[in-house]
Amino acid sequence: MGRLRVLQALFDADSTSRSELVQITGLSRATVSSLVADLLAADLVEESEPDNQARSTGRPAQSLTMRASAAYAIGTDIGHQHIRVALCDLSGTPIWNDAVATDVDRAPDETLDLAADLIRRALRERNVGQRHVLGLGVDIAAPVRTPGGILEAHGIMPGWVGVQPGAELERRTGLPTRLANDANAGALAERKYGAGRNVDDMIYVRLSAGIGAGIISGGRHLYGSGGLAGEIGHIRSVPDGRVCRCGNRGCLETVASPVAIARLLETSWGCPVPISDLLSLVKVGDRGTIRALEDAAEDVGRVLANLVTMLNPELIVVGGDLASAGDRLFEPISRAIRRYALAPAAESVRVVGGELGDHAEVRGAAGMVLTDAPRILAADLAH
Ligand SMILES: [Zn+2]
Repeated sequence: MGRLRVLQALFDADSTSRSELVQITGLSRATVSSLVADLLAADLVEESEPDNQARSTGRPAQSLTMRASAAYAIGTDIGHQHIRVALCDLSGTPIWNDAVATDVDRAPDETLDLAADLIRRALRERNVGQRHVLGLGVDIAAPVRTPGGILEAHGIMPGWVGVQPGAELERRTGLPTRLANDANAGALAERKYGAGRNVDDMIYVRLSAGIGAGIISGGRHLYGSGGLAGEIGHIRSVPDGRVCRCGNRGCLETVASPVAIARLLETSWGCPVPISDLLSLVKVGDRGTIRALEDAAEDVGRVLANLVTMLNPELIVVGGDLASAGDRLFEPISRAIRRYALAPAAESVRVVGGELGDHAEVRGAAGMVLTDAPRILAADLAH
């Protein structure tokens, strides 16, 4: 327990001293010194000489930091059309990152094989032994029920009904694996490494083929009793609207996802509009596409307004494919929030784009493992 407390304190601070560790952990100076000696011997921690300023103030405090290359975590992001793998060091910095386009929805086995190949390639190319990997975090574009990480693929990823991606990848790679929904992984990453640093009350909303949100309230992720909290794509947006892939009617996704926008344009233009063209149409100023995007953003904003009234967040971070539309998207979202949320709650929330772009999910997947790193490392050292 003492070792865990020291490791946790070292993780939470960029750098710290033995005296600070005594204060933070409440352990005796002798215990802290002996635990730090173990961590230095195990090469988990490094110590730097006191700088001149510390010397001149008569406080020669050697600073202790976790060694970023002491251990690693792997993230794997499974979307509808791609998989991405990142190998991250203890600080969460990706030292290897690659993505492959593939028809994920229809081919679970091939996708999982491909993911395992990418993971092996990452370890080989960065010369990292598997024993230095703390675990594998996987996020996927479908609801994940807890406990047990069971995928709710029905209607969302039809080929994946009954597949257990976490267990399958654990079998293929031999790495302890945990599974999460993509929006929850994105929320974790944007808060740890991106636009939501130091923010305790935020909503990460992911606007891609699906629409979902990861919610952080009072510094804690809100998962709900079964891990399904934040599935805002399935909040009713249009009374008696289209039937949604989830089986309900008029869900936000049926009017505001890129698929819905493309469908709307197709009905008026009489020809199919590839989703990949939407952003370039916005960029060249196509009026119909811009109008459809702004209307979709307003629908998203109306749903978010309810969340703002309920949760009073400080920040809404917009991620996913549509986020690169920038203010064209954020402005109508903010306007709808100002219009429909409780006024003081609306005034105190900012809407911004994510900082990590399409790497948010994969870094959050690795981040799930890294959040648990002090516990895993403390347990390893005890054996
Ligand atoms: Zn739905």
